[in-house]
Parts: sequence; C-alpha cells; structure tokens
Amino acid sequence: MNFYNTLSKKIENFKPQKGKTVKIYTCGPTVYNYAHIGNLRAYIFDDILIRALLYNGYKVDHVINLTDIGHLTSDADAGEDKMMKALAREGFPLTLESMKKIAEKYTVAFQDDLKKLNIFEYTENKNYKITWAKASDHIKEQIDLVKILVEKGFAYETDQAIYFDVKKFPDYGKLTGQKLEEKKTAVRKEVFEDKDKKNQADFALWFKRAGRFAGHVMYWPSPWGDGFPGWHIECSAMAMKYLGETLDIHTGGVDHISVHHTNEIAQSEAATGKTFSRFWMHNEFIVIGKDKMAKSAGTFITLNSLIEKGLNPLAYRYFCLGAHYRQQLNFSFEAVGAAENALNNLYSATIDLKKGDDIPAEEEFKKLLDNDLGVPEDLAVVWKIVKTGNGIDSLLKFDEVLGFDIKNKIKELSEIPEKIKKLLEEREEARKNKDWVRADEIRKRIEVDGYNVLDTAEGQKIKLKVKA
Ligand SMILES: [Zn+2]
Repeated sequence: MNFYNTLSKKIENFKPQKGKTVKIYTCGPTVYNYAHIGNLRAYIFDDILIRALLYNGYKVDHVINLTDIGHLTSDADAGEDKMMKALAREGFPLTLESMKKIAEKYTVAFQDDLKKLNIFEYTENKNYKITWAKASDHIKEQIDLVKILVEKGFAYETDQAIYFDVKKFPDYGKLTGQKLEEKKTAVRKEVFEDKDKKNQADFALWFKRAGRFAGHVMYWPSPWGDGFPGWHIECSAMAMKYLGETLDIHTGGVDHISVHHTNEIAQSEAATGKTFSRFWMHNEFIVIGKDKMAKSAGTFITLNSLIEKGLNPLAYRYFCLGAHYRQQLNFSFEAVGAAENALNNLYSATIDLKKGDDIPAEEEFKKLLDNDLGVPEDLAVVWKIVKTGNGIDSLLKFDEVLGFDIKNKIKELSEIPEKIKKLLEEREEARKNKDWVRADEIRKRIEVDGYNVLDTAEGQKIKLKVKA
C-alpha cells in the first residue's frame, strides 16, 4: 500500500515496522461540546484507512484519545480552558465531579455519532483492537514523561508552568517543513500570558495551579506542585503507553500539523531519541463557501441536524467519500441530499445484481484503494459493477471498506413491510380498474414511507425513494 506521508511530503510505500500489525494513533475530540460534521470527516477518514488495512490482511492496533483536561481555547496554549468554559456555559458548578459529567455527556454523544456513521463498527473483527484513552485517566504517565523531559534538559520551569524549550530540539519544524525562525515571524505577535516564557513556540507540558489558573478545579499533585497537564503531552504519553515508542501511523486533521503534532513529535522524540511516528496522515477540512467549518464561525452543523432534516447519516458518509481525504470538501445540504439519492439508487440496484465475482473490478478496486486511498475512484468501480448487473459478491467485499451497510440494507429491502405490500395490492387493483387517480394517490402514500413505485413489464417494483 502507498500513503502520502506529511513528514516526507511524498507518497511512500507502507509496511508496518513489525509483522502484520499496524499501530495507529488518532487524535480524538475534546469532549466539551458536540462534534460538528467537519470534525466527523476526520474519523470517516480514519475509518477508511483502518478498513483498507484490514482489507489488505493487516491487523490494526488503534488508540484514540478523549481530551477531558488541559485543552485551552487556542491550541498554542493561550486563552481559557475549554472544559471550564463548558461548565460555565451549561450552568454546572466548577467542580471535578461536574467536569466528569460534562465529559461523559459529550463522549456518549460523540460515540453515538460515530456509530450512526458506521465508524469503527467492526469491533467484532478479531484483527482490530481499539483503545479509548481518557486524558484524566493517565495523569501519572503524563507526569512521568514531563519528568524525563525536565531531567534531559528539554524543559524549564516558571512560576506558572513547565514549558518545552523548542530551541533545544533542532528538528522542531520537521513536520511543517518550516524553520523555527520562519514560524516565529508567521505567528501573530501576542503578549505572553506568562512573562517568564522564553519563546513564542515554547509550549506547556504542565500548568501549575497558579497565576491565571489559580482557581482551576481540575488539578493533581506533581513534583512541581498541584496542576494539570498541557494538551499536547497526553497524546505522546498515551500513544507510547499503548503502542510503544514508535507508531506506524499517526492521524489527525490538517489543522493539527503546525502546532499539536509538531509538539507531539518534539516532546516524544526528545524523551526517547527515537522516531515517534513513521507515517503522519492528515485529512483536509469541510468548508462552507470559503470558510472552514468551526464552532466559533457560526457554521456549526452537527450530524443530528442533518438527521433532523430527514437525511440518512450514511448519506453524509457517502458525501465525504466522494472526495479524496486530502482535498477540501465543500458542504451544502443539497450536496448531501444528492449523495443520499445516489446511495438509495445504489441500495435499490444492489438487490437486482446477480450473484458472483467480478475479478477485474476487484483488482481495480484494490489498486485504487492501495494508492493513497483512492476512494472516489473506487466509487466509480462500484457503479461500473451496478451497470453490468453482475457481481454482487464483489460489491459486498467493497462494502467492507466503504461501510455503507449494504448487506443489511439488502435484507431490509427484500423484506417489504406488510403495510407496503397491502398498498401495492390495492394499487394493482386500482390499475386493473383503470382508476388512475386512486393508483396515483397510493403511489404518493407509499412515497411517504420512503419508497418509489416503478411500473415495469413484470409489474410493480419498489425502490428506495429518491428525492427530486
Ligand atoms: Zn493529539
């Protein structure tokens, strides 16, 4: 398989470092609010990557984190604590207990979204193992890592925090390809919130419960007094705990490249002296017009708001798979509606497909997939099969990667509900009596339940409804 590696900025041949097991770490959500559909695109990408690896016969050992502490409103450690803000927003008392409640609420909502999108829903697969790692459950691991960095001279202490000293790590800009000096001038000049911080790019490994965080409710004892970990350190500590010092693939959104992932590399490699992750894979944004979807920009669309508009969540999945993961994707409700029609047409067509394989199509599908996840082209292969009318077995294999749940849909569609069957009989009767008005009424009635009726030479046929 070949993947684009952000680290080398090239498409490279991928093989796991050891045997058949691929170790993947994914940056998960900060559980202080609902995820928007732009966030969810990242996990659709992860899901396809993992399915593609499983399809190629690999085992996948996957870790994803849940950030419930330490993430400030700016990824570069400025501003307020996101979890504290959430407590205030929702009228909770500022206690550790209520922080845990908020985190639990949004974790459940997030995992529910993933389920609806058929993401990571192959936990039965013995070749796949997922570990959900909560930051607040790994305080000791984070403190241990900070200790190593302090001992090795990569970190310094101020009254407010322990910072990573980026000047001590010459490779600091290797993920972005920027030198530290270039990065510095690119960063907006802002007043340091800690006057003893040496460089703009130095980032907090540990915040003390002092200064601007004196009233913070989430804190733990440490060699540097009470406090809480910075956001970046959790990913390094938990990734290395579960997957070892060198990962095969680290994933995340492109927005993580310049700060979060750059910092993860610096602190991990400074501590171990080894490569932290061999491959870095990043997905692009969902945009609306020219704007990135963001909570702050008022373009906050959740999966549930699509469902409320009557859209099938898997239509959003289909919509995302229509673009390569490294390309920006322009969102509109109309576009997701069109994706839903395509998906419904696919389901309806699948029922009529004849049994059997289409080996050339399978070869083409795999070749495209293995070339940096060429999923949009793979969708074209799917439609080619539909056109020939043969090869349902191949299509079901492809769905192991695409995740449209075709198998269950076929079952559902081949068992037409009694209510619909009755209406079809009534319509047949009306047509025999040339009562076209009545036949049309029944057709509309059936559409309300989500089906289109087609009159064919063999009689009436039911298809999943396609909206005009
Ligand atoms: Zn991370």
